[in-house]
Amino acid sequence: MKAIPFNKPYLSGREPEYMCEAVRSGKISGNGDFTKRCQRFFEERYGFRKCLLTTSCTDALEMAAILSDVGPGDEVIVPSYTFVSSALAFVRQGAKIVFADSCPDNPNLDVSQLEALITPRTRVIVAVHYAGVACDMDPLMELARRHGLLVVEDAAQAVDACYKGRPLGSIGHLAAFSFHETKNVIAGEGGMLVVNDERFLRRSEIIWEKGTNRAEFFRGEVNKYGWVDTGSSFLPSEITSAFLWAQLECLDRIQEKRKQLWNQYHGLLAPLAEKGCVMLPDIPGYATNNAHMFYLVCRSIKERTALIGRLKEAGILAVFHYLSLHSSPYYAPRHDGRSLPNCDRFADCLVRLPMYYELLPEDIDRICRVILDFFH
Ligand SMILES: *Cc1c(COP(=O)(O)O)cnc(C)c1O
Repeated sequence: MKAIPFNKPYLSGREPEYMCEAVRSGKISGNGDFTKRCQRFFEERYGFRKCLLTTSCTDALEMAAILSDVGPGDEVIVPSYTFVSSALAFVRQGAKIVFADSCPDNPNLDVSQLEALITPRTRVIVAVHYAGVACDMDPLMELARRHGLLVVEDAAQAVDACYKGRPLGSIGHLAAFSFHETKNVIAGEGGMLVVNDERFLRRSEIIWEKGTNRAEFFRGEVNKYGWVDTGSSFLPSEITSAFLWAQLECLDRIQEKRKQLWNQYHGLLAPLAEKGCVMLPDIPGYATNNAHMFYLVCRSIKERTALIGRLKEAGILAVFHYLSLHSSPYYAPRHDGRSLPNCDRFADCLVRLPMYYELLPEDIDRICRVILDFFH
């Protein structure tokens, strides 16, 4: 019986060709033709104001934290059910994290509970679009506007997804995407910062280029360049950008295929949700589905462990996801002690099923048969 892995990186086939092209061009450091091509692709397709490729989404979040100018004494609201980097980027600047709980029926942060978390020290809200499904951005942006807060979208999983017709990544003041090999489009390790707020356009480029105004110099806007601000080496080499370009050319094909697979899962498992055995992903009316992930939520951690075990016996690798950040070894001693029950439930009960371009319809049939049989 063929084993079914949890993830398999998608390859369009043209990655080596474009990487060789980058190497042969004689310009293999960052901010060359492939980098610019990728950035323009996102700016034109999604209306992002300015895009800067980075070596990871974590890097893009670190840039966002620097641009937010947060420091000791400042508070940043982050969902507890997310990847470490959504919080860590701000912690490195000295900020305190105030963790938000998830919605009852959706792992995204519960916007209706946010206002109670805002204090005079709050500076930023990080909106993580879990599984590529939009947070409820209109009330979130309105709340941020009323309190003078910045909104950073952690859109790591949210390529090609929308909120009320607007692309995710175009709504917050800043946004971060990931091209890690587990995402829909990949570069091995890679990411991108999106700058939507005019105030950050110039400084973002300087922080990206090690605190120098090098990019302005190469555009001929200044006649010498030097050290003008803080920053780091956040830009990827042209080899990474060339790989990414080979993926972006195929974005529509990737998305169409993933959505077919997702819909097949949903159709086959819907009867289990109707019987109340599991909860399936909820795509609110304001969101589109980018099929980043297919998950189900069991009734207890015990049931989840047993289900993952049963799938494993059948040669199928399914995995749980985040452990609540508010009870992590690093942050628990710093957390304010509030319990976050919805977040804990997703941490205990959510299972992610195999999802990748090469997954076959018969693989999904086989996976769903095991699950239906388990709950029988
Ligand atoms: C994958 C992911 C990240 C980190 O992305 P890297 O590119 O690996 O740094 C951050 N946040 C979320 C929500 C993610 O899913």
